[in-house]
Amino acid sequence: AFKAWVVEKNEGGQSLAFRDFDEADLMEGDVTVRVSHSTLNYKDGLALTGKSPVVRRFPMIPGIDFAGTVETSDHPDYKPGDAVVLTGWGVGETHLGAYAEKARVKGDWLVPLPQGLSPEQAMAVGTAGYTAMLALMALDAHGVTPADGPALVTGASGGVGSVAVALLARAGWHVIASTGRAGETDYLKGLGAADILDRAELEKPGRPLGKERWAAAIDAVGSATLANVLAMTKADGAVAACGLAQGMDLPTSVAPFILRGVSLLGINSVTTPLPKRREAWGRIARELDLDKLAAMTRKVTLQEVGQLGDEILSGQVRGRTVVTVG
Ligand code: NAP
Repeated sequence: AFKAWVVEKNEGGQSLAFRDFDEADLMEGDVTVRVSHSTLNYKDGLALTGKSPVVRRFPMIPGIDFAGTVETSDHPDYKPGDAVVLTGWGVGETHLGAYAEKARVKGDWLVPLPQGLSPEQAMAVGTAGYTAMLALMALDAHGVTPADGPALVTGASGGVGSVAVALLARAGWHVIASTGRAGETDYLKGLGAADILDRAELEKPGRPLGKERWAAAIDAVGSATLANVLAMTKADGAVAACGLAQGMDLPTSVAPFILRGVSLLGINSVTTPLPKRREAWGRIARELDLDKLAAMTRKVTLQEVGQLGDEILSGQVRGRTVVTVG
């Protein structure tokens, strides 16, 4: 048996306990990994608290991403001792997840630990940072560049937002960081933000079109914020939508699309095919400043993470949280 956080279903909803878990109860998979690190993402907050039904199987070990070392493998690409990273694929939602000393998964879901990153650094990036890179890649593929104007990041003090600010700044963008936390101005400037925008300016329903203020945006917030972001995007600009911290809705109009040629780019990190995953992790290893990564990361133990669900859902977590498991 090994230690794990376990979500169980009960009449009132769900319960959460830190307890022994029998290895024989792990789900099907061709690779068993000794988990060394995990992280806390917004979706982990949903799974830990049950505030939204992301957990689809009970009992569930939450935790949507991990880094660790292969213990046993029947997969041709992996052998015992290999350092690996996993994000997505329903781990922590439909497949037993990362807040545990062991995980058994499909080898096809893994990527080798990127060269230049430690397991701890890979999880400081985690699903949130990996998603920020997918968003940057989508903007790049669209063809928008720093010469076109500034780039906006919403939810900038959060996990996706912090990594997005650092990556965009490093890529030469003039970064406008939107945040509800005025106290994090120095933090965001330290990550590379040139300007700070009070998120109150974006979060209420606005006009279909506003003054053109940015050529690109990475949005972790959704809802009225995303609608306003679209309304203030410059002609032919692009917005990568990756989150719903304000809400799942999108109260917009077609005006930004048909009158300004603005593009809305959807980002889904869960089922990204392997070649794109490898490309994203390779770019993270090359392009993310590791001092900035350290500056946005705090460490907690496996035992502590179970209590942090409410904290991330209420927008109180700054940057990234690494969970030390091993
Ligand atoms: P996070 O660390 O909690 O960041 C979210 C940030 O959004 C908060 O720090 C806060 O930033 C802002 N925010 C929170 N509540 C808000 C509200 N009511 N109105 C406006 N802004 C609000 O979470 P995360 O792990 O970075 O994830 C961010 C979002 O991306 C989540 O919705 C998550 O589900 C989504 N996500 C999607 C994918 C994908 O595959 N598409 C992958 C990863 C994450 P400020 O305090 O700076 O304003």
